[in-house]
Amino acid sequence: MYPPASDWALDMGRVVLLPGDGIGPEIMAEAEKVIAALGGDIAVQHGLVGGASIAAHGVPLTDETLAQARAADAVLLACVGGPRWTNVAYDKRPEAGLLRLRKDLDLFANLRPAIVFDALVDASTLKPDIVRGLDILIVRELTGGVYFGQPRGVETLPDGQRRGVNTHVYTSGEITRLGHVAFDLARKRRSKVTSCEKSNVMEAGLLWREEMAALHAAEYPDVTLEHMLADNCAMQLLRNPSQFDVIATDNLFGDMLSDEAAMLTGSLGMLPSASLGAPGAPGLYEPVHGSAPDIAGRGVANPCAMILSLAMALRYSLGLPEAADRVEAAVQGALDGARTPDIAADGIPVVSTAQMGDAVVARL
Ligand code: NAD
Repeated sequence: MYPPASDWALDMGRVVLLPGDGIGPEIMAEAEKVIAALGGDIAVQHGLVGGASIAAHGVPLTDETLAQARAADAVLLACVGGPRWTNVAYDKRPEAGLLRLRKDLDLFANLRPAIVFDALVDASTLKPDIVRGLDILIVRELTGGVYFGQPRGVETLPDGQRRGVNTHVYTSGEITRLGHVAFDLARKRRSKVTSCEKSNVMEAGLLWREEMAALHAAEYPDVTLEHMLADNCAMQLLRNPSQFDVIATDNLFGDMLSDEAAMLTGSLGMLPSASLGAPGAPGLYEPVHGSAPDIAGRGVANPCAMILSLAMALRYSLGLPEAADRVEAAVQGALDGARTPDIAADGIPVVSTAQMGDAVVARL
């Protein structure tokens, strides 16, 4: 059912679209409209992931789809999961397809931008003056640290108590490859990296600080590097978020800081993300939100996070930064005249998913 990877046209950017479950197909359709409106430089293939793949093939990700993804420049994934699979074993759930994709493509750097569009400045829980014009990028290490370190587990001690263990561990190689991503991205932005750890109480945090400092001195002296303790960073994100450009941090602190930064923007339906591996390997681009089963099939989902994920793919995997700028500007412009219910505002028409996509295409 899938075209072989060799069917890709050689001179085009290659994108695999995986709509997944819930609102996934609805929002992916709008991203596809935007791809079509951009013109002919992007070749598209379709595949199944999550519950949609379980229904068709009995597994959340097939080897064929994985091969398709490996042969592409970028994978655009909408969302997976839903209440139907709540009582299913973890390895048979829709999410297992997403985890396999991340692991197999060795996506070690997770990029979460927090951008406040002018039209949505009132959606934040912080004062408009604090968040207006905000544009920060959190670069989180995704495959190491305390979520994966060994030993781990729960054991029963001789005295009958139970003891839970997780190990926070990083090698210098894991830190520097993440550092390269952060510094390279900062060079394309405002040339500042804030590296966050807890070097005051953790040896692995001290190693993180030393490796980032050494990499900076050796290869990126033109970028400003600042070290900040992760707890202070959590405070500074609320006090004065505009001081940040790129925040580079580990898996655990990045998990929390990126959610905190995302909420500065106030709207789940507007938040894209990217996960990158080694240079030249395909990146995975997906909205931060889930499959929103409560609104699936009703045509009311906000497609902007999906469309902004496409913009990130254009910028980071397809080498089309001007096209990325155009898509982001089109989303920003569309918000002036059209809103899905989740971002409704007085005096602006509330529109459907498809109409929001059309409004973005019209701005392009
Ligand atoms: P969710 O993000 O799907 O929804 C949370 C709330 O936000 C819901 O009220 C939903 O209607 C709303 N929402 C989300 N996206 C929206 C959009 N684009 N437009 C308008 N409203 C939107 O989180 P959840 O309800 O906790 O999870 C639902 C399912 O999604 C679960 O099965 C979960 O496992 C899965 N999930 C998948 C991913 C992923 O695919 N990466 C991420 C998170 C959750």
